[in-house]
Amino acid sequence: MPITTRALIDAGSVVPMLIGGEWIPSFASNLREVTNPVNERVIAQIAYGGEAEARAAADSAGEAFRSWSNTSTRYRSDILWRAYELIMERANDIGALLALETGKLLPEAIGETRFSAEYFRWFAEEIRRPQGEVFASEDRSRRQLSISRPIGVAATLTPWNFPISIQARKIAPALAAGCTVVARPSEKAPLAVAELFRALIDAGIPNGVINLIYGPASAQSNALIDHEAVEVVSFTGSTPVGSALMRQASNRIVRCALELGGDAPFIIFADADINKAIEGLAIAKFRNNGQSCIAANRVFVASSIMDEVCERLGKLTESMKIGDPLGDGKVDLGPLIDQSRVRDVERIVQNATDSGAYFLGGTPEVPDGRNYTRPGFLVNASDDSALAREEVFGPVSGVFSFDDEEEVIQRANNTTMGLAGYAYTSDQGRVWRLSEKLEVGILGINHPLPSVVYSPMGGLKRSGLGREGANEGLHEYLETKYVSIGVEGL
Ligand code: NAD
Repeated sequence: MPITTRALIDAGSVVPMLIGGEWIPSFASNLREVTNPVNERVIAQIAYGGEAEARAAADSAGEAFRSWSNTSTRYRSDILWRAYELIMERANDIGALLALETGKLLPEAIGETRFSAEYFRWFAEEIRRPQGEVFASEDRSRRQLSISRPIGVAATLTPWNFPISIQARKIAPALAAGCTVVARPSEKAPLAVAELFRALIDAGIPNGVINLIYGPASAQSNALIDHEAVEVVSFTGSTPVGSALMRQASNRIVRCALELGGDAPFIIFADADINKAIEGLAIAKFRNNGQSCIAANRVFVASSIMDEVCERLGKLTESMKIGDPLGDGKVDLGPLIDQSRVRDVERIVQNATDSGAYFLGGTPEVPDGRNYTRPGFLVNASDDSALAREEVFGPVSGVFSFDDEEEVIQRANNTTMGLAGYAYTSDQGRVWRLSEKLEVGILGINHPLPSVVYSPMGGLKRSGLGREGANEGLHEYLETKYVSIGVEGL
């Protein structure tokens, strides 16, 4: 009997692994609990494997690669289109699971699910466009061209914050390119990802082409990277883990695509539309309860409008409704994923307040529950405080004033990270200067949601390597072959 979304939860049943086309509910009877961050109640269990499962999954993906990589682009495109349709049809149910396991707001969770579907649609189309080039040969007796081929098995290793869309952003181009996949998502949020895999199987993905495993992160990732069939590791997560994976990948010269930490500046110039800037900041900071790699992390406000902006930010946060996203009544913010995240945010806040910083506005009502924390904006933090120097990854930001454009660009760039940035201004010349001078891979000017499936997403500096989405996203899973053909009689 197929496991439906509801049955999965109601039965408190096991989220299975998928290896070689077999759903494996409890390999070696090893299970881990999945909890609702709102109240830490157990909502499901996952089958939890080890290195053996990683190797078995890579074996099966390696085997399946032989046939999948030889299918026509039309065939793969049709299956990906079907996956898009199925995920869209199931988006409300999958979104509800996603909200339950992560604490994100329901509209955001449904939106993320629909966004995930869009990757399958985009890459179903993109793989049908021409790949490769014919060069203008300088020699009449030769014809020279490049062709591309799928690179091999892709290991897709992902975090809990956007669990379904980050896997979709990797799996869709990999499958379109002709690669097979072993996914190791975070065990903290496995439910929506399991439904993504179910939709892909229902769409007609053959056995072994996609595999899903859970288990100890480092041991399983290393087992995958060391496996002879694996040719690319696509990881999203923190910079230290990305760096460790890259070291491991160097042993076999495995390609790495890395989407890592962020430290986004959010700059409000004096000529900005302040209403739009505050609205944009609320989204760029509080989306996903502040746990986004592209979240606004340091807010810079022109000194001439600092008082007005601070007053507005104080009012915004003190009136926020915080609570269970699936409870009665609308909330603006849910819980963080777990206590370790809360502790980390509170450490950064404590460090800032110890140095004289304070929250803008009154304290909003923060519900009981260990995974809630006070959201808000702090002023007066010193430039060397943790608030000014670290990625908060929670619903808190420092607000700093600046006097001129040169200065704020220099301060915004004063970080080892370079994932995203935002600026609000009405000066068109400044738009171009910021576009060229801010050291970020993703820049939102006068709007807070730059991510779309047809944009190349990725970071500069220590924020990563490679791009996801757009045509560039496909090339993470393809490799180029150059062919030079001697031709007589021309
Ligand atoms: P994390 O690096 O701790 O975990 C990410 C994934 O890696 C999880 O599945 C985890 O189980 C696994 N992992 C943990 N330790 C590992 C190890 N030693 N070897 C192999 N895998 C390991 O990150 P996190 O705390 O879950 O997420 C927060 C970080 O991720 C932030 O820095 C954030 O900016 C970044 N992030 C980046 C993006 C992006 O697109 N650039 C998106 C989301 C999150």
